[in-house]
Amino acid sequence: MRTIPFGRPWIFDEDKKAVLDVLDGPILAHGPQAKALEAEFQAFIGDGAHCVSVSSGMAALHLAYLHFGIGAGDEVIVPAQTHVATANAVAIVGATPVFVDCDPATGNVTAETIAPAITSRTRAISLVHFAGIPCEMSRIIALADRHGLKVVEDCALGVGSRYRDRHVGVFGDVGCFSFYPVKHLTTAEGGMFVSRHADVAASVATLRAHGVDRSHTERTLPGMYDVVCAGLNYRLSEIQAALGRGQIKRLPDNLARRGENFRALATALRRIPGVRVLDAPAGAVNSHYCLSVVLGSGLRERRDDIARALNAKGVGTSVYYPQPVPRMTYYRKKYSYDPLRFPHAEDISDHSIALPVGPHLGPDDMAYIAEAFTQVLATRGGS
Ligand SMILES: *Cc1c(COP(=O)(O)O)cnc(C)c1O
Repeated sequence: MRTIPFGRPWIFDEDKKAVLDVLDGPILAHGPQAKALEAEFQAFIGDGAHCVSVSSGMAALHLAYLHFGIGAGDEVIVPAQTHVATANAVAIVGATPVFVDCDPATGNVTAETIAPAITSRTRAISLVHFAGIPCEMSRIIALADRHGLKVVEDCALGVGSRYRDRHVGVFGDVGCFSFYPVKHLTTAEGGMFVSRHADVAASVATLRAHGVDRSHTERTLPGMYDVVCAGLNYRLSEIQAALGRGQIKRLPDNLARRGENFRALATALRRIPGVRVLDAPAGAVNSHYCLSVVLGSGLRERRDDIARALNAKGVGTSVYYPQPVPRMTYYRKKYSYDPLRFPHAEDISDHSIALPVGPHLGPDDMAYIAEAFTQVLATRGGS
């Protein structure tokens, strides 16, 4: 039997050496590694992106709302089908998340699902590129422009996602990336705040570092600085930045392996009646974070048993995401919950299984997963 973990950080000896080199030196925070990571990520994203390294994806999202001055009395549109951080970042600044449903083919919010939720209090639209499938950005940006709304892209699973030949994160006002261990690249904990507006990036860089107006290298007299705003400390350490740099270099290989794995597994699974694979439409490039397969009638009631049976065969699985965010206890208690408003988000949470396609796996693993899936479905009760 094979053992196929759902996710595994793709860390090489050269990455470990880079970390040890930092530990041998005098600068552990706020130094050249973080600057280099920002420049290298900027080159990868392209299209005039300005990058600010931060301590997590959540930190990037939080900084976005703080920067735009969004808070009590304001509403922000939030996908029901996303990681809870997309909503928590709105709640934590005191604004009200207004949840909207997704498209059943992609798991993404669309201009159609967003438009009815816009009110006179709406200040921003947040969206997530669901499991790396890019949102239909041109219509969402047009809608936001019509209503004068900011657009916050949650790109935590979107490293390598492209829409009409541009990387995600530069369509809206800001893009927020996560470098958490199971994402496309990792710094253990970490993330990147991205904006196509230089002034937004510069101001957020100050906000994430105590509101101090100059870094160590910019000080004319050591120890002297001024403070221009009430800031936070959301910096990435030099150790973390060094860990991430080698992984940025290997992103083309990482993404190519993910794409090959995804296509092989999707082709096999699409032959099975009663299941559908969430994927990007024509004109958009999936970052292939994972492969989410949604079970149709006759199978959907067996979802948990099917996942357990796959696990018993050594296939790691997950669910993206285990509940629509408004159904989570905190949000349900605060805003009540009407399942009829989120039929597609509910379907994905309750009837899908996420399968691994990461660069730690190859064609044999995909063949094994497809075979295991077929066998499990053919067995009544799922085991
Ligand atoms: C992982 C993730 C986050 C949170 O990122 P952290 O780095 O763990 O704070 C936010 N949004 C989405 C869609 C994610 O997948």
